[in-house]
Amino acid sequence: MSEVGVLLCDCQGAGSNLMDPVRLGADAFGDIEMIKTRHLCDPNEIARISSEMIRRGVKRLVIGACGTDYARSAVGLPLVKNGWPAQLLEFVPLVELFCGAGAAGTSAIDEERALSSVRLVLKRGIERIAARKWEPPVYRRPRRRVGIIGGGVAGLLLARCLEAAGVQAVVIERENELGGYLRKVSSLDVDGGKVEVQVVSALKERLICKEAPSRNGKLEFRTCTEAVHIKGGPGRFVISFSPDGEEEVGAVVLATGYSCEFHPEDHGLPSSGWMVSGRGPVVYSMSALEEALGRETFDNLEHFRGKKVAFVVDVSTGDSKVFTVSGLKNATRLRREFACEVYFFARDAKVSGADLESLYGAARRAGVVFVKREGSKPSITIKPTEGKAGGKALISCLLPSLGGGFMEKPLKIEVDLVCLDERLLPSVRDESLCASLEIGSGRNLRSDAMAWRPGRRAAPGSLSRFQEENVRLYTVRTAREGVWAIGGARGDQDLPESLTDASCAAMEIKEWLDGYEALASLTETDGPTKPEGDHHEEHREGGPERDIGAIGTSGSVVLFSRDGWQALVRAVVDEQKCARCLTCVRVCPHRAIKVLPFGESERRAAEVDPAACRGCGTCASACPGRAIRLTAFSDEEFLAELEVMGEYL
Ligand code: SF4
Ligand code: SF4
Repeated sequence: MSEVGVLLCDCQGAGSNLMDPVRLGADAFGDIEMIKTRHLCDPNEIARISSEMIRRGVKRLVIGACGTDYARSAVGLPLVKNGWPAQLLEFVPLVELFCGAGAAGTSAIDEERALSSVRLVLKRGIERIAARKWEPPVYRRPRRRVGIIGGGVAGLLLARCLEAAGVQAVVIERENELGGYLRKVSSLDVDGGKVEVQVVSALKERLICKEAPSRNGKLEFRTCTEAVHIKGGPGRFVISFSPDGEEEVGAVVLATGYSCEFHPEDHGLPSSGWMVSGRGPVVYSMSALEEALGRETFDNLEHFRGKKVAFVVDVSTGDSKVFTVSGLKNATRLRREFACEVYFFARDAKVSGADLESLYGAARRAGVVFVKREGSKPSITIKPTEGKAGGKALISCLLPSLGGGFMEKPLKIEVDLVCLDERLLPSVRDESLCASLEIGSGRNLRSDAMAWRPGRRAAPGSLSRFQEENVRLYTVRTAREGVWAIGGARGDQDLPESLTDASCAAMEIKEWLDGYEALASLTETDGPTKPEGDHHEEHREGGPERDIGAIGTSGSVVLFSRDGWQALVRAVVDEQKCARCLTCVRVCPHRAIKVLPFGESERRAAEVDPAACRGCGTCASACPGRAIRLTAFSDEEFLAELEVMGEYL
């Protein structure tokens, strides 16, 4: 008696009247049980079919239905509730294979072609599920508390979002006040509009005030506290503080912001001696100008009035949103409020970012003159004024010509002051934290794979954290499972984007914790209450009934719970084959494998933390002893599928 059964959905959504065991030639599939029904989405029908399959001795099911996601929820969940081990269900999406074949007027050739494709994928599903060996890995229940390093606007918004989602958070800020950038401003430019003083005050009150009501006491703020080291793994990180103390959290978020470093040598100026004292400097860094315009009273800013000013961006940091936004805002302000003659030197205007188009338009309307430069950076010469305080800056720049190449003569403009962009780097304090988490901080220019250089497209931190190590390019995630980075901590993010990061991270972390808890409960004995209508407890191999389980689909296994789905492909090491060569430890991009010294672990082989593993398969392909396999990606399953494909070729 076969252990494999096939359920065929015969509704119009799945594949018209071709979904028929006789037309498909069920006998050719070998000794299997096949049932077709028009009502596979009906829980009562599923209960009936489930009983019938069990009566026939079937233990593994292939479900040939419409789209996989829908079928998992509509068919998979009721099947699991009826006692089927979820890992022994294989879903085969058929709707696209039929593509209308079988409808009135379809040619016999098209019908036969569709049937042949369906036979192939069904057979692959049958062989695959027959070969499946899958045990859910053991997970520890995660700590439902999030450590947020950095109490700036992004970190605070994240904390409030988590609080609203019912997740505890602790905000760790090394300064004695929370708020970061928000503390310095009285108005904000968000989503193309100016958010005025009252709104900003309310936002500050809501985000910054430590006494602001925290629902259910879920938030904790620690100021004057520096996070210096993080150990542990997803679900159980331990953050060590300076001066002292520790905190155990399930997830960590780096919200440490970026740092701007002014390097005049990037602009061809000597590293010192370029500052001309007197009625204000000739050279400003972007941050210095931002601070001067933001902090000083209007009267103190009168020395800007009527000046000829040049902004130069895209030199120290290429295509930077942060400096482009700051430059556009301040250029417009100097033009409008102080009647300055303003020039804006940029390599191109292709920086993508919320609100940039309107800022650019406002600057144009205010009369800022844009100079699109090509090739090398503008040359800047400081000319002190003879016998007087102050001086001038001469900017010389090659311009593109309409016919290609450059115009013969460079543009030369003499200005009273010049505002230059800076290097945008991850915060210095990220370094030790990132080292303890084994992720790149992007600060160490020598050791990072892609060293910083003038004009580089984005902040080094964002590249090393996301584009080189985070192989799946999730935006607010780092290469480490359970560690997120938001706002300036992940790169060249301006304020609106930092706020978006915060709310995205809150949603992701909530989902991640929920999914992780569901995974942990897979291996617990006290699962949720047994639902009504479960008549097949004795058939179930996975322990007591619970409203979660894992379901196979071609190429992956996913876990589902009441709260959603989660991919569940994980690396497993065969202790007998492992030679402790450390290859997997070195190649794992997510730091999910460890080889512990003898005596520290009962296992004498590499150990995978299933919560940290993202199932990328890098270790399995690199292991010289072929000691690693992936759950639901086993060689046996692949070979079984390949054999079928060979037969049908
Ligand atoms: S690469 Fe393979 S043999 Fe080497 S430590 Fe890892 S699992 Fe063991
Ligand atoms: S599959 Fe292997 S390399 Fe990939 S994350 Fe998991 S343990 Fe690391």
